[in-house]
Amino acid sequence: MPDQRASPHSDTATTMTAPRPEQTCADDARAEVLRVLVVDNDPAARTVARRVLEDLARGGRTVDLRLAPAIEDARTLLSGDSEVAVVLIDMALDAEAGGLGLARWLRETQGNRETRLMLRVPHPDRAPDPDTVVHLDISDCRCAPEGRDTGLHTSLVATLRSFETIRALARHRDRLAAWTHTLEHRVAERTRALRDSERRLRSILDAPMLPIVILSMAEGRVLFANDSANQGLGLFATRHDDAIWCDPEDRDRLFERLRLHGRAGDFEAQIKTHAGHRSWALVSAITMTFDDTPSALLSFSDISGRKAMEEDLKRLATTDPLTGIGNRRTLMDQGDRELRRARRYAGALSMLILDIDHFKRINDGHGHAVGDRALKAVVAVCLHQLREIDILCRYGGEEFVALLPETPFESADRVAERLREAIARIAVPVVEGQPDGAVISFTVSIGVAAPRPDDTTLGDVLERADAALYAAKQAGRDRVMGKA
Ligand code: GH3
Ligand code: MG
Ligand code: MG
Repeated sequence: MPDQRASPHSDTATTMTAPRPEQTCADDARAEVLRVLVVDNDPAARTVARRVLEDLARGGRTVDLRLAPAIEDARTLLSGDSEVAVVLIDMALDAEAGGLGLARWLRETQGNRETRLMLRVPHPDRAPDPDTVVHLDISDCRCAPEGRDTGLHTSLVATLRSFETIRALARHRDRLAAWTHTLEHRVAERTRALRDSERRLRSILDAPMLPIVILSMAEGRVLFANDSANQGLGLFATRHDDAIWCDPEDRDRLFERLRLHGRAGDFEAQIKTHAGHRSWALVSAITMTFDDTPSALLSFSDISGRKAMEEDLKRLATTDPLTGIGNRRTLMDQGDRELRRARRYAGALSMLILDIDHFKRINDGHGHAVGDRALKAVVAVCLHQLREIDILCRYGGEEFVALLPETPFESADRVAERLREAIARIAVPVVEGQPDGAVISFTVSIGVAAPRPDDTTLGDVLERADAALYAAKQAGRDRVMGKA
């Protein structure tokens, strides 16, 4: 159909289409109507152009041919239609500057880089210089006389093809730009969502709650510490978990457990706090990946109060409240350990049982409080006489047991004698705080024993020491007895 916007001079507009077989999507580019504008006032040019276009139409292309007899007509046509595939310009038309002027106007003023330009010059000398050809992106410059340009057909086909390629590239570029825009939009959305979720997570982690740290599994580097960990554990001053553990073996144990099970829920450890204090913590940990690094997330709850209570209970359960030394339970625990150690290293071990003679009389004669002070005095004297490694326990009432590691029976016998003598020298004031007033003295009987190869427990040794003590009592008290 002729373009209604065309100039009155563009008197000829022809569309030629050959019958085409079925069209496919891939044929989109080929399905386009190719517009060719011939800027020429020579009727012979019209003939040539038509012949070429008929050839193209036979090849299945739809070609819309426009003729513009003057430069001004071409400008009018081109400014209303940016889809023109090829403009064939007669350089002799409207003087040479007119043809090149049209090309320059199209490229520079209209910003059209797609439409292909073909020039027809009357003589090779009048062809534009190479720089201009490159600058204005001129596809072909022909100088064969009108009507006898045998190469025009092939050149026009090639130029149309290059226009199609440029259009296809432009379409891809536009599609790519649209995708890029969509992608950028999505990335921006995701980034915003991520930042929001990170901010939410951060505010949860930094809420006044448990200290939380993330450590790299390989080196124990502190990758993250929340406010609570920074303040409580003082981790702002360090970037390594050395600063956490009082005992580095705790760290190794915890990491070993994490490697085996991926989590640890009830791990108790002493940790260092900001002021260099020690504090007991229950550590819960789980493995995770943080910034592509295999890591462990640890949270700490303070269990110092509970630990102190446990310590108190343990002390109460193992200590005699009157004298402060270990009770029978401590004796059994430590005694068994000492017995095993003596066996393993073939070391000597001896045991003494001391029993205050006629202690009942002290209570009965001077009161229970005096009896208590007598018991404390015995303990003080024994601790003074014994070595640091010896273990003194209150076995019950007015009976005490001393375990003497690295001490053979004969030496233990001498130690017992020394103790008996020292205890006999004790003078307990009847009235507390008045050492110059009335005092009471007393004696002890002591049974001595040492482990034998067939003893299986400490009880076996105790039994023999007790038998020796009984023998000492029977023999008249205030004496040491025992058999190796
Ligand atoms: P023996 O020479 O045969 O050992 O006579 P004993 O009187 O020392 O022995 P007995 O077992 O008859 O008496 C022990 C006394 O120790 C009886 C008990 O009241 C007293 N006793 C036990 N524990 C305590 C205590 O913690 N404080 C005081 N003051 N007396 C205690
Ligand atoms: Mg007794
Ligand atoms: Mg007694």
